[in-house]
Amino acid sequence: MADKFDVVVIGSGPSGYVGAIRAAQLGMSTAVVEEWVDDKGATTLGGTCLNVGCIPSKALLDSSHKYHEAKDTFALHGIGVDTPSMDVSAMLQRKDKIVKQLTGGIGGLFKHNGVTVVQGRGKVLAGANVEVTAADGSVTVLEAGSVIIAAGSEPVTIPPAPVDNEFIVDSTGALEFTEVPKRLGVIGAGVIGLELGSVWGRLGSEVILIEALDEFLAMMDAQVAKEAGKIFKKQGLDIRLSCRVTDATVKDGEVHVTYVGPDGEYTEVFDKLIVSVGRRPRTRDLLADDCGVTLDERGFIFVNDQCVTEAPNVYAVGDVVRGPMLAHKGSEEGVMVAERIAGKPAQVNYDCIPSIIYTHPEIAAVGRTEQELKADGVPYKVGTFPFVASGRALAANDSEGLVKMIAHAETDRILGCHIVGPSAADLTQQVVIAMEFGSSAEDLALMVFGHPTLSEAVHEAALAVDGHAIHIANRKKR
Ligand code: FAD
Ligand code: NAD
Repeated sequence: MADKFDVVVIGSGPSGYVGAIRAAQLGMSTAVVEEWVDDKGATTLGGTCLNVGCIPSKALLDSSHKYHEAKDTFALHGIGVDTPSMDVSAMLQRKDKIVKQLTGGIGGLFKHNGVTVVQGRGKVLAGANVEVTAADGSVTVLEAGSVIIAAGSEPVTIPPAPVDNEFIVDSTGALEFTEVPKRLGVIGAGVIGLELGSVWGRLGSEVILIEALDEFLAMMDAQVAKEAGKIFKKQGLDIRLSCRVTDATVKDGEVHVTYVGPDGEYTEVFDKLIVSVGRRPRTRDLLADDCGVTLDERGFIFVNDQCVTEAPNVYAVGDVVRGPMLAHKGSEEGVMVAERIAGKPAQVNYDCIPSIIYTHPEIAAVGRTEQELKADGVPYKVGTFPFVASGRALAANDSEGLVKMIAHAETDRILGCHIVGPSAADLTQQVVIAMEFGSSAEDLALMVFGHPTLSEAVHEAALAVDGHAIHIANRKKR
């Protein structure tokens, strides 16, 4: 006989595990199906984010940043250290320990909330049932009141650079280099390329990023992207735009990469090559032909704004559906769906999802970019404030970048905020909160900000929207 649950979630990444916990909190019997097992055969919870994504990459970013500070900036503070050394194996062990702690934590949360974990590959059958094929090949069927598909995504591969997991790697391989590559090539100067390129660059790699587009960080606000590009250049990241890789061949322990750029064909030789050209939804063997769930033209599971698929009682959330591939976006969708299944009128505000690139300095944004508003003919006004005018940023020797606040020209409502600079992620979150409350730039300008804080840069940018920032010369005066 089939096991019965109110809710069956496929996938235990941040979209699935958060949705499952919320469903259980709301009193529904909940199972999570997860196919990932570790080398000892134990079910691995947490998905891409906890195991090979957000968390391990941030652990390496923090380690490499500390190394860079010890090597290059301690002396400015008067701190003398012998030439610092980097024990890569210790750095990787620390990362693995954090991953273990957090993934184990999800197991604990599941136990606490009464969520059942079922190991195996889930497939959605007609009638909202889920077939599970376990690692040992045994097959069971779970009867579900509702199914939440949270199967996530996987790296895109490109034919000229086949990943061999030794010399040519995807993001997972780039978290595991056992020594610092002397020369590191990265295909794709997007989020992963910049974060992992920064990690190994700080530790001593010569890093070349090969990017197909003519524009750097085309999805970000153009002014902020330009500022970030200048900062990365100073850091030594060699970003080559308008370049298409045509071949990557491993010869005598090196990767020979041929690419076509604006002025012809080039070849570079690297010790390692990272392929980070995007991720695609993971839908292989996930849907029975007659289950009713459909895909959109880009291969994502088709859903509406409430994450409802075309099949009755089947929902899909996170990287497997449209929208930015971000852990927090998927988690919020997981919560929304659990609440809607329980009859609550939950929504996700897709206009207020922050995105962050965890380089140093960080790049973070919420809302609309200046170029989007211009294209849509929305009247807007802009206030910017450079961190070089922030006392706290100077005191911290961390004063590169700027805050850019955009508000509606007539209503003054904040439409977007784009930051490259120290703690940009946390500063942007302040604007997310303001935007959720429908704040105007003046509302922020009238608030008291502690001194000296980096947050004052957000305050000054809000003041600058109407030309009365205090600590810079305003272009327009009021
Ligand atoms: P996933 O995390 O991919 O989880 C899906 C889970 O479903 C997996 O455990 C998988 O094994 C399981 N699964 C798939 N198919 C089946 C099946 N048929 N049956 C059973 N189980 C199945 N995002 C951020 O917001 N911030 C960051 O800093 C950040 N850093 C990142 C760094 C890297 C290197 C990478 C690769 C990604 C990063 N991301 C970051 C993106 C983030 O990891 C994803 O957006 C997030 O993990 C998506 O969550 P998800 O639950 O939808 O899918
Ligand atoms: P991305 O979309 O951020 O960047 C991919 C880059 O590769 C783009 O600039 C694209 O123009 C370029 N590209 C594509 N094909 C190419 C080719 N053939 N040759 C050269 N360049 C090419 O994707 P990513 O960096 O792989 O990251 C995947 C996803 O994971 C992203 O959607 C991102 O949201 C998520 N992620 C988020 C974070 C974060 O939130 N901090 C960190 C890592 C990953």
